[in-house]
Amino acid sequence: MARRISAARVKSNRSYSVDEAAEIVGVTVQTIRAWLKQGLRCLNASRPTLILGADLKDFLKERTAKNALTLSVGEFKCFRCKAPKTPAFNLATYHPFCASQGRLQAFCPTCEGPMSRIVGSADLPRWLEICEIDGNGARDP
Ligand SMILES: [Zn+2]
Repeated sequence: MARRISAARVKSNRSYSVDEAAEIVGVTVQTIRAWLKQGLRCLNASRPTLILGADLKDFLKERTAKNALTLSVGEFKCFRCKAPKTPAFNLATYHPFCASQGRLQAFCPTCEGPMSRIVGSADLPRWLEICEIDGNGARDP
């Protein structure tokens, strides 16, 4: 289940059978068949089915982009809820590493777990429009 899917070993200018594609990416043959139904391109004219390395790479790249969590200003990723969350009570604490970057910490409004993310101090004014920030450096860097 938690096998790591990787496009790193896929060569763009090669073609792969379903078995070979499964092996090189690190998934089962069933997964490759499911991906073919989901729109992974293949060479239909040939038997057995052949998948171009370039098509496989593109498909994996799109799939990763879809799964990646994109956070906006004012959002943290809660690792317990596995979802983007705004800070509980709209309150965060800023711990600067240096003049230009620091860590914002807050609590999840759902599970009360700690959440943190690295932000640039240049983004702090935008954060301050959304939540209250404690900590040295937040207001007078
Ligand atoms: Zn949570």
